[in-house]
Order: sequence, then C-alpha cells, then structure tokens
Amino acid sequence: MNQAVDRSARLQLEDLSHRYPRTGEPALSGLSLSVEPGELVAFLGPSGCGKTTALKVIAGLLRPTSGDVLVDGRSVLGVPPESRGMAMVLQKPLLFPHMSVEANVGFGLRMRNVSKDRIGRRVGTALRQVRMEGFADRRPNELSGGQQQRVALARALITEPRLLLLDEPLSALDANLREEMRGLVKEIQREGGYTTVFVTHDQEEAVVLADRIALLFEGGLHMYDKPRAFYDRPASRRVAGFFGATNFIRGWARNSAVETPLGHLKLARNAPPGDITLTIRPEAVRLEGGENSFPARVTEVAYLGTRVACSLDAAGVELQVALPPQARPHEGEEVTARLPAGSLWALEE
Ligand code: ATP
Repeated sequence: MNQAVDRSARLQLEDLSHRYPRTGEPALSGLSLSVEPGELVAFLGPSGCGKTTALKVIAGLLRPTSGDVLVDGRSVLGVPPESRGMAMVLQKPLLFPHMSVEANVGFGLRMRNVSKDRIGRRVGTALRQVRMEGFADRRPNELSGGQQQRVALARALITEPRLLLLDEPLSALDANLREEMRGLVKEIQREGGYTTVFVTHDQEEAVVLADRIALLFEGGLHMYDKPRAFYDRPASRRVAGFFGATNFIRGWARNSAVETPLGHLKLARNAPPGDITLTIRPEAVRLEGGENSFPARVTEVAYLGTRVACSLDAAGVELQVALPPQARPHEGEEVTARLPAGSLWALEE
C-alpha cells in the first residue's frame, strides 16, 4: 500500500436503515458493510434502490432512522458534515458560473481562511491531479462537461478528504468521455489512496472501477464482493440476472450431482440438496463432448464481430452460448454441448 493510504479512512456501516418521514417507505434497510482504507467500493443497483440515500447518510446530510456510521471505528453520527473529513462529487458539477476554475477549486479553502499562497499551491496540485493545469483562468461555461466534472473533482480533492463520496459523477457524460473519465478517476483514487464510495447504476462502470461492489435492491444489500464474483458465483438468481446471466437450468441436487432436463450434471463442489437452479456464463459453454455434455440444436446465430452469439435448445432448455468469432454454427444444426463442472454455479433461490 502507498503512504497516502495511511491517511485514508476505514468506513463501517452498521445495520443502517432510513425511512423518509413523508413517504414512510424504507429507503435503506439494515445495510452493513465496511470499506477498507484506500479501497474503492461501488454502490450499484437500479434506480430507487437507496444508493444516494446511503451516500447522504454517510456524508451526514441525512440522519439514519437507525444504525451507525463509523469512521476508523468511531461513530460520526454526531459530527456535522463539514467536519467528517469527507468530500462529495455529484452528477452535476454545480460550479459557480461567475468564478474562474482557480477560484472554484480554491473556494473551500478560502472559506477556511487558508493563506493565499497556500491556496495557490494546493489549487495547482489539485488541477494537476485532474489533468487540468492550464485551465485555471477559464470560466465554467468555457469548459466541456467532462472538464467541468474534473474541476468538481479537484474542488473535492483540495480539501484532502479521508473519504471520497462520488454520486454518479460520470452519468451525464457521453459514452467516450465517460470511459476516459473512469480511467482518470481510478488513477486519481489509486495515486491519492482515497477511500472511495462510488454510486452508479451502471454495472460496467462498477466492474471497471471498483475493488468491491455492493449490490442493492430496495434498500437491502444483496451481495458484497469483488466484481468477478458477480459473474462467477452470484448470490442469487436476481443478482445473476442483474449481471446479465441468461442461462438458468432447474434441477434436483444431491451432493455434487444434479438431475436436470439435460441429464445428470456434475458440479465442482457439493450443492445443498433439493431443488436448485444452475447458471453458467455464455462464454463458458462448450460445443464438444465429454463430461456434462448433451445433444442440442442451434436455434439462432448472430455474428457480433468479437464473438458469435448462439442460442441452443436442449430438451426444452434454452441456452445462450458465446463462441469465438471464427466459429461457424448454422441454424438448425445438431451439436453436442458441454457445461464444464467448474463453470456451473448453483444459485440460492
Ligand atoms: P437513483 O439511481 O434513481 O438516483 P437511488 O438508488 O440513489 O436512485 P435513492 O435516491 O436513495 O435511490 O432513493 C431510495 C428510495 O427513497 C426511493 O424509493 C425514493 O423514491 C425514496 N426517496 C428518495 N428521496 C426521498 C425523499 N426526499 N422523500 C421521500 N422519499 C425519498
């Protein structure tokens, strides 16, 4: 770990719940997780699942109905937002239009009566961090959307936060710029070692950026793990579906074998006995014989440049398969398909 990480905070959320008084609906229910120093965690989930509510509770803009927020092991519920050592960047940069970039970035320090010299130096550093040196004299309306968001980021970094809270900061940008900015956010976060919570509804963004992803549905945490785990071992059918899984095979498990309409399938590990659903990523399905193979018919083929997407029908079960681009399956062709044991995952219902 780099030295900067020593400065960054450990964040713990303990059984956090929130109800907005007017609606009374629980926007957050029993959220518990911890973010390690220097870690970037993405809060991911569909619109309305409570991501922003969680971030506001962490920042101190909302008081939770119950539960606690701890920074380095101490509750911060009694600490006002400006004293929590946190900085927040929102979807819209909200820069002061009449001020230069330099004045916008230095604003927070001027409010704290920091000397002019010091502000000048720190603004310079922050603008370098976001690769915006040379733009100090511009006004916000003379900047692109991405540049404005970089300035907003610099304004957050200048306060030397121990915790960086980013609420969909890239979602208003077009696709190319968003990708470029993802790279920059990651670089800045790594270089500065900031403990970061990044709110997004974009699964790809979470996977690219995050060390760990917290997936929320209706205010509840459904899975908290490294991005790869959401593909390889999703916690439930719902989690798998959110991450684009399409292959679901129902069966009856006994130890490491499952009776399914496709026949007797072996698993790499024991599954809980009884009714289960198996899932497998399209790219893990093989068109070959061997263990866990069965006859299937090709029902649809689409050439997608980097891969061939193919639908199979096997004993009434539909399977999606991603093949390398040189593969040439034909619609109606009878094939042998195989589901390697190591790639099959038994879902909790
Ligand atoms: P989005 O991705 O659309 O921003 P989100 O996951 O950030 O959504 P929240 O904004 O945290 O979701 O909202 C969670 C739930 O709380 C939603 O059902 C929303 O309608 C409700 N909610 C949010 N703000 C308020 C409020 N001020 N008063 C009442 N209910 C609210």
